[in-house]
Amino acid sequence: MAEIVVQKYGGTSVGDLERIRKVAARVARTVAEGRKVAVTVSAMGRTTDALVSIAREVGARPDRRELDMLLATGEQQSVALLALTLHTLGVKARSFTGPQAGFLTDSRSGDARILEVDPKALLEAFETADVAVVAGFQGADEGGMITTLGRGGSDTTAVAVAAALGARECEIYTDTDGVYTTDPHLVPTATKLARLDYDEMLELASLGAKVLHPRSVWYARRYGVRIHVRSSFSYSPGTLVTKLEEARVKTDKPVTGVALDRNHARIDLTGLPDEPGVAARIFGALGEAGVNADTIIQG
Ligand code: ASP
Ligand code: MG
Repeated sequence: MAEIVVQKYGGTSVGDLERIRKVAARVARTVAEGRKVAVTVSAMGRTTDALVSIAREVGARPDRRELDMLLATGEQQSVALLALTLHTLGVKARSFTGPQAGFLTDSRSGDARILEVDPKALLEAFETADVAVVAGFQGADEGGMITTLGRGGSDTTAVAVAAALGARECEIYTDTDGVYTTDPHLVPTATKLARLDYDEMLELASLGAKVLHPRSVWYARRYGVRIHVRSSFSYSPGTLVTKLEEARVKTDKPVTGVALDRNHARIDLTGLPDEPGVAARIFGALGEAGVNADTIIQG
């Protein structure tokens, strides 16, 4: 069979029909080069946010199982629309929900982990079709309950598709043309990194760099899938996220990048008695309340 290329397009890249047409043209171009494409897409634009808001309008704390049922529909729309658009270009394409694409997850609604990806259905599709369009961000548990992988989880879907199909690389198309030293939307002097290794990327992603879902990097490292982050608006090379041996370019910079997380609150506790047991009482209370402290500074 022809080589399979794995691509992922985020919400901005499929934000409206015109953009979906651009994505389809790009996929068609890869097919014209004689390759098959497994393409993962996110929900269109801000669809997922809109679905979360409408569920919260119904009730402030929506049941997670039902919320996943609702959120999964966002990606289901975009896979069908991309497949239909590919058909207009004469490309044989078939869309799949996460469960149809073989994604088995645990039962943690809203933050499910992938347990296994059975590539059978995709491989079967490739016998007749040139493109398989897979809904990002979703799967089903053992009992068939629809689950989602956590916000931004389509990246992880794409990497998992690559791993399951034995592809060496996963192309992630986004609205920046790679991974920058910091958020280029906020800091115009940020520069693009040509390569970085899994651990550096994992650290940046975990600290809040939005460019990749942290679990996708973890998954890529585990299965040895190279991630190529690039722009859906240009054909220039982006950033490669690879093993340390491949990523190392001689550099004397001690810092690779800086991530910004706006979702942080800082609370100062002052005038506490300097005696044993105080810290234990504070963290004990936080723990009981299920509050996660990211950074602790004692002075
Ligand atoms: N649509 C989901 C979200 O907005 C998943 C994704 O885009 O990766 O979080
Ligand atoms: Mg994303």
